[in-house]
Amino acid sequence: MRILYVEDEKFLAEAVKHNLEKQGIKTDLAFDGEEGLNMAVASIYDCIVLDIMLPKLSGLEILARIREKEIKTPVIMLSALSEVEDKVRGLNMGADDYLAKPFKTAELVARIMALARRPQDLRQETVGFLDLEYNVDEKSLNGEALTGKEADIMYELIKSAEHIVKKEYLLSKVWGGEAYGDDNYIEVYVSRLRKLLKKLSMKTEIVTVRGLGYKLVEK
Ligand code: CA
Repeated sequence: MRILYVEDEKFLAEAVKHNLEKQGIKTDLAFDGEEGLNMAVASIYDCIVLDIMLPKLSGLEILARIREKEIKTPVIMLSALSEVEDKVRGLNMGADDYLAKPFKTAELVARIMALARRPQDLRQETVGFLDLEYNVDEKSLNGEALTGKEADIMYELIKSAEHIVKKEYLLSKVWGGEAYGDDNYIEVYVSRLRKLLKKLSMKTEIVTVRGLGYKLVEK
């Protein structure tokens, strides 16, 4: 795990870094807002900790810029003021958590761990196969929005690319058993997905494995 900590109080920054690294959390430091923003957009961090009061650019401004750029790295805001207003502003602007100064390093570690453990729902999760890229959050395939069931089927096919996905499995997974036994439902959605793959000129296709199910393969 690697985090970015933007903090202008160098002594505090070094002390926190030392403690975080003892816990196995690799910590990069930035001492002003500009440097912090430049490092944050590199998008290599599992979490970004932003002090609010910083020279050059405030923590809130950094937060706004990185969210503008669609960078969804979890952000923890720090403020010496511990004012409700700052907290609310930060959270409204897309911060994931807030910690008032002074804080105990153990508390910060706990917050970082909680965010890192959180399901990836706040981050762009994608699965792919060859030139296919399915975005789990947006339920889109190479930028094309899919309907709920198309999306669920595509997700299963990509996860098991080059392996057979059984019809029974798809029915129970996607329909939850409500249409159990009716293969026609699946056929309709699979044929729509095939059309979409064709329209997008993908290198992949969905083949039918007779009597069993479907398989996503290279053309
Ligand atoms: Ca400060």
